[in-house]
Amino acid sequence: MTHILVTGGAGYIGSHACKALKAAGFTPVTYDNLSTGWAEAVKFGPFEQGDLLDRARLEQVFATYRPAAVMHFAALSQVGESMTDPGRYWRENVTGALNLIEAAVAADCLNIVFSSTCATYGEQDGVTLDEDCAQLPINAYGGSKRAIEDMLRDFGAATGLRHVIFRYFNVAGADPEAEVGEFHQPETHLIPLMLDAIAGKRAALTIYGTDYDTPDGTCIRDYVHVCDLVDAHVLGLKWLLAGKDSRVFNLGTGKGFSVREVIDHSRAVTNRDVPFTEGPRRAGDCTRLVSGSTRAEAELGWRPDRSTLQTMIADAWRWHQTGHFER
Ligand code: UDP
Repeated sequence: MTHILVTGGAGYIGSHACKALKAAGFTPVTYDNLSTGWAEAVKFGPFEQGDLLDRARLEQVFATYRPAAVMHFAALSQVGESMTDPGRYWRENVTGALNLIEAAVAADCLNIVFSSTCATYGEQDGVTLDEDCAQLPINAYGGSKRAIEDMLRDFGAATGLRHVIFRYFNVAGADPEAEVGEFHQPETHLIPLMLDAIAGKRAALTIYGTDYDTPDGTCIRDYVHVCDLVDAHVLGLKWLLAGKDSRVFNLGTGKGFSVREVIDHSRAVTNRDVPFTEGPRRAGDCTRLVSGSTRAEAELGWRPDRSTLQTMIADAWRWHQTGHFER
């Protein structure tokens, strides 16, 4: 039985990764402090509650399971919050990752799949966002993830730790079987907030900025289905277990949609009105983030087949209607 340590396995993406790992024949061991995750989402393997800042607890978990690899999802991930409370992002994301990496190396676990972000690219108008372009984050969230990428390279050179870094664009959707899905408290992401507004659980969605330099004035993002995203992680894990070199991959579709276009698709998929108002820009938001790479398709054989806006919204809506994890 091959154990994979999944930090953040109780969270949105981590819980989907655990399901995909189990389906691929691995045993996912969730390590999560439940600060933003949900114990109910840990359904596919053992659960070890713990914090990344607790080095002794991490060492104990490595010793118990002797994992073949780590998938590192656990992190604070709100762009807006990272601008008002950068210290939390540097402490919890960067120091947490340092503890994890040191504990992994000490336990001779030398394979890590890391959840990074297109926010590390920042605002680069007219530049194709592929894996080789400069990383110039404009918010502390992206800064913290870029720092961890640097850390992985340094430890790789010094210890033989190999990594697959995935730079996600905007993750959306849910498990089509609705066993797990997206549920943040508080919610800050566009699609779940929109579904809350559609379902009458909140008054209206606020569009953050209508004066961006885009065709309809709202920000453009590249949305990728969470199930496609975690499939790439399993492929990345197999890449490392096959002994291949460290590599960075963007995970996006290369197609961008504005906030207004997402609203239009949500209206069509749910057949309901989307109440929204127009508000000011949110600090830290880039105008346009769209992947300019097909490396994951070419080298990993990744096929993001579920990543149409219709399917992502339909799967998210199905999950949303189950009311899972709601208190
Ligand atoms: N957004 C919005 N209203 C909201 C939440 C998000 O207009 O209530 C916009 C946000 O400005 C961004 C896009 O939707 O352009 C996606 O934001 P989200 O927080 O989902 O992901 P991020 O791009 O920050 O990772």
